[in-house]
Amino acid sequence: MSNRPIAGTIQAVRQTEGGGFVVRRPFPTARVDNLDPFLLLDEMGPVVYAPGRAIGAPDHPHRGFETVTYMMHGEMEHRDSNGGHGVITPGAVQWMTAGAGIVHSEMPSDRLMREGGRMHGFQLWVNLPAAKKMIPPRYQGYEAHEIPSRVLSGGGVIRVIAGEVEGVCGIVETTSPMAYAHVTLTPAESIVFDVPDGHTALVHVFIGSAIVNGVEGDEGVMVVGDRSSGAMSVTAGPDGCDVLLLSGEPLLEPIARSGPFVMNTREEIVQAFDDYEAGRLGRIVATGSGVSR
Ligand code: MN
Repeated sequence: MSNRPIAGTIQAVRQTEGGGFVVRRPFPTARVDNLDPFLLLDEMGPVVYAPGRAIGAPDHPHRGFETVTYMMHGEMEHRDSNGGHGVITPGAVQWMTAGAGIVHSEMPSDRLMREGGRMHGFQLWVNLPAAKKMIPPRYQGYEAHEIPSRVLSGGGVIRVIAGEVEGVCGIVETTSPMAYAHVTLTPAESIVFDVPDGHTALVHVFIGSAIVNGVEGDEGVMVVGDRSSGAMSVTAGPDGCDVLLLSGEPLLEPIARSGPFVMNTREEIVQAFDDYEAGRLGRIVATGSGVSR
């Protein structure tokens, strides 16, 4: 497979949101609303919280898409109105299909809250096709040791959350064809990310630097492939790199988004707010402490 042309790069800048939440967000931005079928990518941290200072997102709703949380450091505790509850530990992933609607909370674990510590992870929003926006909510959670991985010939590591990359099959079931992997490369080591024709192809460099199809990607740069055909070839810079690989079949449907809801029309957004305010997206029932999935 030859390399596909590069459509452009996005330089994401780390910023502190209200409440002290450190985030680096390649998209959406004023220039790039979405990278179909992906709606948002947030790098959470890295940040080191003092004891008692960690912050999260208390009860809030979603409808019409999926939220994918991948932790590298720190622990996030999740609860939802569907009875889902779990602590997302380092290396673990939680793929939550909001579908017709869910209310969830994403908070630092009791331990991170009490003792403080390092927090670093990603949240990705994946759009659902119109025909699947109102499917029942679902929660797929996997521990670090359950994520398929492989040591590369140069010593780097690939961890595949979804799809197939480098012959490694991810563990998550997706609603449309896509791939999501975390790759750590040693200096000058390379990987070829084969992306199906016509799919969105993204490489996000979040530690170190890399060359992607001849284009330089420093830390915080997302390299966006043309939606044509060909691979994304990633070669690590002199300090090595950590990158996220993302590909997906574009849905090519109208997007109406407002806050926590992503639908196809304004009417459906109004309906989502009505349903939430009427309590029809459910509420979180306290289940006590402890870990369950
Ligand atoms: Mn959320």
